Amino acid sequence: MGAAMGFVGIVLHDSACPDINGSGFDFLVCRDGTVIPSNQFRDDDHIHVCVEGDFSTLADDPGVVREQMFVLVKLMLRLSSAFEMDPGKVSAHGDDCPGEYFPWHELKIRIDRPPH
Ligand SMILES: [Zn+2]
Repeated sequence: MGAAMGFVGIVLHDSACPDINGSGFDFLVCRDGTVIPSNQFRDDDHIHVCVEGDFSTLADDPGVVREQMFVLVKLMLRLSSAFEMDPGKVSAHGDDCPGEYFPWHELKIRIDRPPH
């Protein structure tokens, strides 16, 4: 076998992201709190987690989103521990993904937006 997997962090998307296109994620956090893993990792460096929903508009049901964020935080902590990553190493995919209403404050972690 080759070197151990060396992920450096987690990248968050929402399902409106064109790169996701239905399947381009490693883990999908559904609106009902189910976590769906993909069959294989799509990137050697980052784990791509997609949160189901379009966060370019205000959430129509904040309770659903809060539950999703709770599941997301648990998933991120589990992944950080499993792959020995810094749990703070979470970034947004881009300026528009996840959308501007993504509730970063619910994650209670510092997020780095990618540099321009
Ligand atoms: Zn994205």
